[in-house]
Amino acid sequence: MTSFTYKREPLDNTRRGICPSCLKDFNVVKSGAITRHGWEEAGRIVGEIGNGHQWGDCPGKGMRPLEETDIDAIRVLEGMALQIELSEKKLEKHENVSFASYSHSFTREAHKHDTEKTKAVHKFFAGRTDIETKIQDTRLKQSGARVHYAPAHRYTIDVPRGHKGLTLVHRIEYSGMDGTYFIFAEGETFTPGMSHLPGFDIPSWETLRQRHITSLKDFIEEVKARRKALTEAIEFHKENPSRGIEHVRR
Ligand SMILES: [Zn+2]
Repeated sequence: MTSFTYKREPLDNTRRGICPSCLKDFNVVKSGAITRHGWEEAGRIVGEIGNGHQWGDCPGKGMRPLEETDIDAIRVLEGMALQIELSEKKLEKHENVSFASYSHSFTREAHKHDTEKTKAVHKFFAGRTDIETKIQDTRLKQSGARVHYAPAHRYTIDVPRGHKGLTLVHRIEYSGMDGTYFIFAEGETFTPGMSHLPGFDIPSWETLRQRHITSLKDFIEEVKARRKALTEAIEFHKENPSRGIEHVRR
């Protein structure tokens, strides 16, 4: 535990103060604490694929602004140190321990006109002995003229250690007017002259392991950068006493 280094009178609530968590300025309430506000964390979310955004209340809500004291800011710094420590431990496990499997999930719409495709996808997974797949009913948010939710399936695949991954290929076979739908893994079935459409990928165990590693490294770097910025902001406010920022009428 580090103790605080300065404490001044609370800001009066006609002023804005700097949030000790996100370092942006917000109105303060009667007690001088930072008012409720949201925050957005851009970047990867550990365990998810690609880039995501997290929205929510900023943890700085209710904390004392940097103009008043660094008491709460130091609590934030301690929280960051813990986040870094836990993430470094996780990172070390992914780097040094060969996990038996990694989980990979994706969601697929299950439209009424799409029943044959869905059946083919389910049949494909049911027939595999190299991977285990859990299928759950879910809904997918659709934004059109008005937002609605379409029925969908969530596939969670256990990709075992050493698995090379699969590229699934769609194939439609027509007999008369009826289209029969097949799903197969590229390289496992091949019929010359057959037309197949690209489907979707199940990443290899190693790819999934690398994604976890990259995601954790990015997260650690991001928290370190925020920790550095907050440490500098504390120093600045310690050296430069201020009564906050005037409200701007818009
Ligand atoms: Zn904040």
